Amino acid sequence: MRTWMRLSLAVLSATVIAGVSLSAQQQDFSQVQIKTTKIGPSFYTLEGQGGMIGALVGPDGVFLVDSQFAPLTDKIVAAVKQISDGRIKFLVNTHVHGDHTGGNENLGKLGVVILARPELRARLAKPAPAANGTPGTPAPAPALPVVTYTAKTIVHMNGEEIQLIPVPVAHTDGDTMVFFPGQDVLMMGDYFRTVGYPNIDRANGGSLKGMIDGLQAAIDLAKPTTKVVPGHGAMTDRAGIVAHRDMIIALRDKVAPLVQQGKTLEEVVASKPTSAYDARVPMPGTTGERFVGQLYAELKK
Ligand SMILES: [Zn+2]
Repeated sequence: MRTWMRLSLAVLSATVIAGVSLSAQQQDFSQVQIKTTKIGPSFYTLEGQGGMIGALVGPDGVFLVDSQFAPLTDKIVAAVKQISDGRIKFLVNTHVHGDHTGGNENLGKLGVVILARPELRARLAKPAPAANGTPGTPAPAPALPVVTYTAKTIVHMNGEEIQLIPVPVAHTDGDTMVFFPGQDVLMMGDYFRTVGYPNIDRANGGSLKGMIDGLQAAIDLAKPTTKVVPGHGAMTDRAGIVAHRDMIIALRDKVAPLVQQGKTLEEVVASKPTSAYDARVPMPGTTGERFVGQLYAELKK
């Protein structure tokens, strides 16, 4: 049992770290269709494969949030043409993972100006090695953000504000949430998700405290009416973020005393600290075990 558990955790962590780039190469994108949903007066979400895309449209052109995988760019550009004149001017990346930045190179070559935090740019240019030591592949120059920002930055476009708000060391160390006050839409990237348990990507600089602080910042920013769009999963609202934040704190407080008692990771996982939430979290799969492992590592440090 123990050996199996240790093995499965090792495989799990390797899969989690390598997962995004592996899946991009192995997946068949030919059958993926882009589903476009209007959620604000001039705002749409685009679902295909990978992270949720947001699009603000208007007379000045299109502002995109995240770019999914490279093989989907043509379909994404075609979907944007259905809701606008197709002139994509800007793209912001919420974080470095390939299911949110994979389309950067294609869009960069089309002349789209890419914005992101410098930490994200650095990780695209020089990716962390995989768990097995395989070095990452540096992104080509057109994929790299042209504009980087270290504090809240506002893009003025289509008669409204687009607020790029850094979220330090949460899901990764390069997270940004994007608020469109004129549309009452908040796009959060993967430091908030409504499928599976949270994911603190520690190899890419994520942290438990940063995730909790970032969720609090989103709670402070959102109004009860705000449409909250997670990196993965269904749209929700401010109350959805509060519940998620409360769950993380409850799980932290469940795991912390076990770490203090000197329990091993296997013992903590075997005590099933997530059991009270497993029926409530959509599609938990193995993400509960993954999150407990991340909590354990964060609380041990
Ligand atoms: Zn991610």
